[in-house]
Amino acid sequence: MKAPALPAAYGFLASARSGGGRAPHAAFAAHGSLTDIHTSLPDQNLSAVLVHGPETAPEGAQARDADTAVLLAGELYNREALRSVLPPGPEPESDAQLLLHLLRHYGPHAFRLLNGRFAAVVATGRRVLLATDHAGSIPLYARVTPGEVTASTEAKTLSQHRHPRGFPLADARRVPGLPDVYQVPAGTVWDTDLESGTVEAHPVWRPPLSRRIVPEDEAVAAVRAALDEAVAVRVPTGDTPLVVLSGGIDSSGVAACAHRAAGALDTVSMGTDTSDEFAQARAVVDHLGTAHREITVPTADLLAQLPYAVWAAESVDPDIIEYLLPLVALYRELGGPARRILTGYGADIPLAGMHREDRLPNLDTAVAYDMATFDGLNEMSPVLSLLGGHWTTHPYWDRNVLDLLVSLEAGLKRRYGRDKWVLRAALADALPEETVTRPKLGVHEGSGTTSSFSLLLTGHGVAERSVREAKRHVVRELFDLTVVAGRHPSEVSTADTVRSVAERFARGAA
Ligand code: ATP
Ligand code: MG
Repeated sequence: MKAPALPAAYGFLASARSGGGRAPHAAFAAHGSLTDIHTSLPDQNLSAVLVHGPETAPEGAQARDADTAVLLAGELYNREALRSVLPPGPEPESDAQLLLHLLRHYGPHAFRLLNGRFAAVVATGRRVLLATDHAGSIPLYARVTPGEVTASTEAKTLSQHRHPRGFPLADARRVPGLPDVYQVPAGTVWDTDLESGTVEAHPVWRPPLSRRIVPEDEAVAAVRAALDEAVAVRVPTGDTPLVVLSGGIDSSGVAACAHRAAGALDTVSMGTDTSDEFAQARAVVDHLGTAHREITVPTADLLAQLPYAVWAAESVDPDIIEYLLPLVALYRELGGPARRILTGYGADIPLAGMHREDRLPNLDTAVAYDMATFDGLNEMSPVLSLLGGHWTTHPYWDRNVLDLLVSLEAGLKRRYGRDKWVLRAALADALPEETVTRPKLGVHEGSGTTSSFSLLLTGHGVAERSVREAKRHVVRELFDLTVVAGRHPSEVSTADTVRSVAERFARGAA
């Protein structure tokens, strides 16, 4: 099976019922075409609305046999390996069909085998399986009512389907403001009994807890090989990939591997009128010879897009939203036909790239903490770029790359006074020296987002010491408006929200 240019579906709202019912309706933040599907099985009916690329056939997102139906948004990356464990037969036509074959062969344990970026619903017998990839990189939400399981890749679409009230699920992560909607954990299969509404959670991936001691040259070679492979499987033959390039080591590394895999590469960098990293990105562009574009977003426009960032990420964490905002602005500004975009996102988590001192115990504390708490932040949600109709994928959170990076002992991550040492060494022959040795700068810093968001608040009279808390309030209010109440972000104003939060702080009411 040849890697398709774009996945068959970006997301879905699906309903599995024992009885009849209507097809669900959904307003997604992801920009694409919508297609309704219905599958009748002996013991249940599965209907869904799929959101997909304008040129893609959504049939590839579904597969069925006598008593099982599979719905898959996103894509798999270890197709070759997965095929190798199946009995000989015709080539599966899609990732959904490949998953169906694996389910026949392994049952729900099939999910333990997958390396991908996906969310899936499997209706089988009287059960409904809901599953995400190891990273939960396509968020998946569910409401369980007697005789019906509703699942969606965007929580906002479930706020419109309120009756009857869903069962409470003990220990599951709630969505703020949507009392009976829960998020399927990363790397987990929820096995739901349609009649009783009981949900059993089966973890199919966990971050490694132990650390491996490996000679430095072996570690460096392993990191390079894993990254090369993760990038190569994300680059369909004949396609020129696009890399969002900051000029930091993470995205520059992806650019170098993608250029090698595809033979040609497009790159794009964003900056603001306050700050940019254009010169640093340019060094990589010149070195690799990519077709490059620079996009400058005025700071005021950037902050005005906060409602879009919250609407897309469906996160109430102000640090995450601040971090994602410049990228949201970039994706919305990009234009053109749907593209497959590779990012350097996420390398800092397994490598503790934010760790700025030499003592190792703190480094592993940071890695362990971040790997234990990443779930539910939705940092890697494809909806961020789908606002602009583009599909993103993140090679550093490929399951193999992540397993390897997390498991390396801390001394390989911080070495010779360098952060992310093993990654820098792995890319030393592929990038200019200045890029390899350049210190970490987060996207929220490089674009000046953090400071301009703070300035906006202090400009409205919020005291310096309250800025952090005020940001939390602004993001929560935007979440309530766009996700819970279902308002379109174009009707929601950052300025009004900031003003009302600032007034609340001034009155001492917050
Ligand atoms: P480093 O960690 O060394 O700074 P980085 O800049 O690649 O590397 P982040 O700053 O954490 O990593 O940013 C995350 C990802 O977001 C980047 O890898 C890149 O793909 C994208 N990105 C960040 N800043 C920009 C930018 N200004 N223009 C385009 N893409 C960007
Ligand atoms: Mg950076």
